Amino acid sequence: MPTPSPDTYDHEIIVVGAGFSGIGAAIKLRQAGFEDFLVVDDADGVGGTWHWNTYPGVAMDIPSFSYRNVG
Ligand SMILES: Cc1cc2nc3c(=O)[nH]c(=O)nc-3n(C[C@H](O)[C@H](O)[C@H](O)COP(=O)(O)OP(=O)(O)OC[C@H]3O[C@@H](n4cnc5c(N)ncnc54)[C@H](O)[C@@H]3O)c2cc1C
Repeated sequence: MPTPSPDTYDHEIIVVGAGFSGIGAAIKLRQAGFEDFLVVDDADGVGGTWHWNTYPGVAMDIPSFSYRNVG
């Protein structure tokens, strides 16, 4: 099946950006009962600034709800 061109997308809701904000919006939309939404991003993956950039040696120095050390 061919990938539809973005011009042919038809959704009730479009979320622009797949960083924390877009992912959070998608979670909240689904929790609120919305299913017909699309998250779009310039990038070829999710994560926003964490997708676009690398921060060698970055670490957390406080407890965080949304971040955790994975190294
Ligand atoms: C080194 C560093 C450390 C940080 N530490 C913390 C921390 O400890 N605690 C904390 O709470 N926060 C921290 N932050 C901040 C946090 O990471 C950012 O606030 C968060 O990632 C922002 O998410 P966002 O989704 O709003 O924006 P972004 O991550 O910038 O994502 C926006 C996305 O939207 C896309 N986009 C924008 N315009 C368009 C368009 N017109 N069409 C298609 N796509 C588009 C972009 O490509 C991008 O992927 C840190 C940030 C950095 C850089």
